[in-house]
Amino acid sequence: MTYAFRTAALAVLALGLASCATLGGANYYSVDEEWQAGRQLEDQLAQQLPLTNDRTLTNYVNSIGQAMARQTQLGNRPWRFYVVRDDAINAFNVPGGLVYINTGLIENVGSAGELAGAIAHEVAHGVARHGTQRLSAAQEVNAVAGAVGLGSGVEGIAAQIAAQGAFASFSRRDEREADQLGVQIMANAGYDPDGLADLLERLASQERGGGVAFFRSHPLSSERMQSVRQMARRYDGRGLRTDDSQFASVRRRAAQL
Ligand SMILES: [Zn+2]
Repeated sequence: MTYAFRTAALAVLALGLASCATLGGANYYSVDEEWQAGRQLEDQLAQQLPLTNDRTLTNYVNSIGQAMARQTQLGNRPWRFYVVRDDAINAFNVPGGLVYINTGLIENVGSAGELAGAIAHEVAHGVARHGTQRLSAAQEVNAVAGAVGLGSGVEGIAAQIAAQGAFASFSRRDEREADQLGVQIMANAGYDPDGLADLLERLASQERGGGVAFFRSHPLSSERMQSVRQMARRYDGRGLRTDDSQFASVRRRAAQL
């Protein structure tokens, strides 16, 4: 099952939002506006996505996520981490400190370190504010608000973010930045950043079998895999965590949902 935002998204995407993402890096939204919109999106997504209420699973993902978020310049803002009952191998960030991890991803990673890599990468997209940055770029060409009349104020921002959709793909530059920042966040939170490189390699090998949703929104290249490995190598030998004792049972639980 793959769930997605069901809004005006397709209309907006048809206007070619993804290709706008390469325009400048300006962000027209304040952090306050983004986080206020995030609260609305969180409520909306709780209705639209099959979030699990398995406490063991959500507490586990949340504790890794909060440890990561605390290491960042937006660590003083609220962050929320959710597990979505969805077999698609995917994870995504929604503006305003929201991170969603699919059970399909948890089932298919090999260690706590790899899962931490996925979480760190999503936190990094959030800290770099790629979502609202892309929205800003789209507005430079007047594609979103004018085209679908989504209103103004915080409600308008939330509607525009929802319209942009979690499945709109990030640019390669966004990916590079999220990998770079993700590696730092992992190491600062005590996880070996090789976990992110291992994750990308594992998913790339599964991708050859077809259909890793993660790469639809987070484009992969061999250059990307190599550069993450290189960045991670700087932390070699520092005794950072690659796995933990809870992970195996967490993965089993995810598989049973
Ligand atoms: Zn990404």
